[in-house]
Amino acid sequence: MDISQKRRTLLKVIVLGDSGVGKTSLMNQYVYKKFSQQYKATIGADFVTKELLIDDKLITLQIWDTAGQERFHSLGPAFYRGADCCVLVYDVNIHKSFDRLNNWHDEFLQQADLDNAETFPFVLLGNKVDLDGGSSRRVTEQKAREWCASRGNIPYFETSAKEGYNVDEAFLCVAKISLDNEHVPDIYFPGISETASEAEQPRSGCAC
Ligand code: GDP
Ligand code: MG
Repeated sequence: MDISQKRRTLLKVIVLGDSGVGKTSLMNQYVYKKFSQQYKATIGADFVTKELLIDDKLITLQIWDTAGQERFHSLGPAFYRGADCCVLVYDVNIHKSFDRLNNWHDEFLQQADLDNAETFPFVLLGNKVDLDGGSSRRVTEQKAREWCASRGNIPYFETSAKEGYNVDEAFLCVAKISLDNEHVPDIYFPGISETASEAEQPRSGCAC
């Protein structure tokens, strides 16, 4: 079957966490393979997209970023609506960003207006593991994994947006567990001329 005739699945992923933890950088690294040291809190598109092929199924990940509004806690309902997965990010070097995960987790569940709140998929990313060769680290991996266990076994990845470490692996897991979310809309676009080679082949299994 021609790739253009395949069913496409659109998955909405939202990325939440304190300002400065590296949300935009992780997305830029994943989608564009680029990293910038400059901090641009006010720049951010509504979403970026990335295509993947998982088990012969064409997936479009629509990854929503904030434009710095997270500092004011003013993410509107459109941001949360229809999400298939929520990626929570903290900075392993800043304990407060870890402490605030409870707030982001709970706020998401309150705002997203879900009817599958108990089973809704989250993924946690502990970012900036490259900093100071790990000497500035304030949150241990074990502590992060305990938090994940206490919140229903959320998959956890330690990442570096700067070095690209574990970024593809984390988002592949995001795509896979989003697919299992029962509220996935299947969208069929006949005649879109895209070749299979344009879609990324998953490189490794989901570690979640
Ligand atoms: P956001 O506010 O959560 O979107 O954070 P940004 O992506 O804008 O990143 C904030 C700052 O942290 C920027 O200066 C980035 O260059 C830096 N940064 C992001 N990710 C990493 C990382 O993995 N390692 C290091 N060393 N710096 C990072
Ligand atoms: Mg940002």
